[in-house]
Amino acid sequence: AKDDGKGVVRRFDPVRFAEAAQRRRDESDLRRALAEMQFEVHYQPIVDLNGELAVGVEALVRWRHPVRGLLGPGDFIELAETLGLMPGLGLWVLREACAQAVVWQQDNPGFKVNVNLSATQLSSPELTDEVGAVLADTGLPPNSLVLELTESMALTDLTESARVLGSLKTLGVRIALDDFGTGFSSLSHLGALPVDVVKIDKSFVAAMRETTANGSVAEAVLQIARTFNLAPVAEGVEDEVQAALLRELACAEAQGYHFARPMPAAELTGLLSRQSAG
Ligand code: C2E
Ligand code: CA
Ligand code: CA
Ligand code: CA
Repeated sequence: AKDDGKGVVRRFDPVRFAEAAQRRRDESDLRRALAEMQFEVHYQPIVDLNGELAVGVEALVRWRHPVRGLLGPGDFIELAETLGLMPGLGLWVLREACAQAVVWQQDNPGFKVNVNLSATQLSSPELTDEVGAVLADTGLPPNSLVLELTESMALTDLTESARVLGSLKTLGVRIALDDFGTGFSSLSHLGALPVDVVKIDKSFVAAMRETTANGSVAEAVLQIARTFNLAPVAEGVEDEVQAALLRELACAEAQGYHFARPMPAAELTGLLSRQSAG
């Protein structure tokens, strides 16, 4: 036991000690990963629900960890955000994805690329200039880029978000609200944001075949999208039943394991060339 000088005796807690040590290891791991760029961008097709052809992709970051193998964002994004590393990593993903999209556009005119923005990116005063620089450097037509942000990020400070999104939109890019419907309380604010696309959260897609009220949320979200003149994209479509229900509801685009998993750029290039060969 140790006296902290305020008369409080703190006992050594082996669990907390181990957790703190692990956290420090994770931290230095992540900093090294960034210095050595152990990250990759994987791409998941976004398909036209009628033809089931890929009309674009969502860029999803991966960490090729030297010991633990391929890690998904769930394993590191939160820590990266806490350590202030996300604006840098996010910008790298953006640049990578835009450069790649330009290559895919050679054989697939109008091919779109969706890139996720983190909360710290959205609150950075440099964001619009950085996105503008990436577009200029890569030559990607601005209307081919869709920037995704979550409803909760956009709605914490509505006035400020509307200003930032407005500034991004002067570049000609499009804005998508991700995980749409999970923050329903703020629905009335939707009209205040210059948004073009809504991504229907996978939990609502999964619930669609239920006969409970929950099963109709996807349909309700599609109606809201129509009201606000937003293009809907359904997320997490895992089987043909869900795809058929979404088609019936006139949802134009979708994404999910039923069509394709996220994959490295080279694999997507293969998929696209098979697609254009018929
Ligand atoms: P998200 O933006 O909602 O991305 C969709 C997630 O759903 C991806 O997980 C994707 O692999 C997964 N998914 C796709 N189809 C299906 C399906 O049919 N069923 C199920 N159960 N899941 C499906 P992933 O790649 O693990 O990414 C998780 C989250 O991490 C993303 O959620 C996004 O919020 C964040 N993220 C990923 N890449 C980036 C990035 O570059 N920057 C930022 N700021 N966040 C990122
Ligand atoms: Ca997303
Ligand atoms: Ca999502
Ligand atoms: Ca999500």
